[in-house]
Amino acid sequence: MCIFCKIVDGEIPANKVLENEEFLAFHDINPIAPIHILIIPKVHVENFQSVSPELMAKMTPFIQQVAAELCLDKSGYRLVVNNGKDGGQEVPHLHFHLLGGARLKWTHLTEDETHKNL
Ligand code: AMP
Repeated sequence: MCIFCKIVDGEIPANKVLENEEFLAFHDINPIAPIHILIIPKVHVENFQSVSPELMAKMTPFIQQVAAELCLDKSGYRLVVNNGKDGGQEVPHLHFHLLGGARLKWTHLTEDETHKNL
């Protein structure tokens, strides 16, 4: 069972922000912004590339609700999903990073300008 499934099952503790029957939002254990929340479906979905449109249609309003609960809806935020190896995905359970609470930097993310898959 993956680590986020264990959080859903209560086997591993998490600092929860919001949940409903299908989704859960909790604080990232290693925040990279003043507010850094992970938002996951409770059902195990490997990554963004394999999520169904039906699940995403329900996940979108949940993410918006989390942003509003944290008062980020007015100040702004960044939503990030790391998909697969090149995307830097470490936990193989779909999760959105909701980042905010400060003016975030926007910068190059690689050492060079190589676009190997283009
Ligand atoms: P990613 O690289 O997109 O797969 O991101 C995984 C994220 O999960 C990282 O930001 C980690 O800090 C975070 N993380 C890993 N384990 C836990 C945990 N037990 N509770 C909260 N966040 C976690």
